[in-house]
Amino acid sequence: MKVVVNPDMCEGHGKCELTAPEVFKLGPDDVSVVLVDDVPDSLKDKVDRAIRLCPRQAISWAK
Ligand code: SF4
Repeated sequence: MKVVVNPDMCEGHGKCELTAPEVFKLGPDDVSVVLVDDVPDSLKDKVDRAIRLCPRQAISWAK
């Protein structure tokens, strides 16, 4: 599955990177960047947690 960050909503708090550093990384402009194209099953729970913890609801699974 693919996960996306809405750059217009992301405020760079970095909770996603702390929660799932294999998947998210803050870029130089303090917007979270998705590092993997296809999230492996082993990381899906971590991504779900990052989605829940993001204070801006900027992360979602791609439809
Ligand atoms: S937790 Fe949400 S607002 Fe914070 S950097 Fe990640 S995507 Fe952006």
